[in-house]
Amino acid sequence: MNFEALFTAKLNGLHEEHRYRVFTELERRAGSFPRAKRYAGENVSDVTVWCSNDYLGMGQHPKVIEAMHGALDLCGAGAGGTRNISGTNHNHVILERELADLHAKEAALLFTSGYVSNWATLGTLGANIPNCVILSDEGNHASMIEGIRHSRAEKRIFKHNDPADLDRILSEYGPERSKIVAFESVYSMDGDIAPIGEILAVAEKHRAMTYLDEVHAVGLYGPRGGGIAEREGLMDRITVIEGTLGKAFGIAGGYIAASTNFVDFIRSFASGFIFTTALPPVVTAGAIASIRHLKVSQFERARHQERVRKLRSRLEAKGIPTLPSPSHIVPVMVCDAAKCKWISDILLDRYGIYIQPINYPTVPRKTERLRITPSPLHTDADIDHLVHALSELWSQCALTRAVA
Ligand SMILES: *Cc1c(COP(=O)(O)O)cnc(C)c1O
Repeated sequence: MNFEALFTAKLNGLHEEHRYRVFTELERRAGSFPRAKRYAGENVSDVTVWCSNDYLGMGQHPKVIEAMHGALDLCGAGAGGTRNISGTNHNHVILERELADLHAKEAALLFTSGYVSNWATLGTLGANIPNCVILSDEGNHASMIEGIRHSRAEKRIFKHNDPADLDRILSEYGPERSKIVAFESVYSMDGDIAPIGEILAVAEKHRAMTYLDEVHAVGLYGPRGGGIAEREGLMDRITVIEGTLGKAFGIAGGYIAASTNFVDFIRSFASGFIFTTALPPVVTAGAIASIRHLKVSQFERARHQERVRKLRSRLEAKGIPTLPSPSHIVPVMVCDAAKCKWISDILLDRYGIYIQPINYPTVPRKTERLRITPSPLHTDADIDHLVHALSELWSQCALTRAVA
């Protein structure tokens, strides 16, 4: 087997479809978000980042940075082991308490990332619950899909955000089957929000467990940043809430929050939790500071939503087509893989604006887009510059405008 030739052929296929991934090399600068340095060979330039998942700029918040400096000096660099073998630091335990409190659950459990938390939890549930069938929203994130696959449990996909379809599928299964409904609150590519209450009503009718990924909502919605379920007063009806510390909280790591027994079960049986080095104490200290701040401060959430409204209305006025969404995610629809990549390149090179193009398989073909994530730190001038640049490129590419 000529492995090198095989890899080249596979990569060429990606190039031909305009979906070969090119990483933009940045240097984030604490104190200047959303500005960053961009490295391109010999060239270094300033760019404004418009596609970060550090939605609120918490990655540079003074309280977060101070807490992380403190933990570094106190504890040193790493955790020193798996959670079971010397790696459980005092502040892992404090962070898990903060997270349980955030979601009004009895307990919480940390993982090295949100991806791992989904993969390990769903994998462990599906593999250990007898007669299990997992109902998965068709828009679910790769980490849930992989976890379900890994579990080898039966999987059924229900139509995106469609409680009636979920009800129809669940009705095919008798009471002897154990049922788990897995879905997200905010879907990150379209920015749409699940009808959580309706999905819970269907799940309750069929006595199904519910698993909600709030990765794109924690820190951002609800009076204490508990997510959409907090905002809608539904947290107590959900079996498991899963989240990340890497997006709105600005750091890294993932978690689940559930009953004491549930968490103890995952803690005791999930390979992806047990056999890996615990998060560095520096990371957990930063996360504690970030969560505590966002539990009480409404400023970032309010300003975030105001920036989103402002950008949306400015784009609308220019006829730049966006997917209407009730969340903070603003998808600008190009609907052509080559043009999407081209616009993104020109924005970066000529306008100093960085928005990563989103192509297949992250989104369906012909729905290629620029996924824009305004933050509380983007100024009016930033918005003006972005809208002006997009409007010029829309004309150059002869892309259709929406009728205002
Ligand atoms: C990003 C993401 C994850 C993974 O979280 P990480 O902490 O980045 O690993 C899980 N679910 C969804 C919906 C995501 O978008």
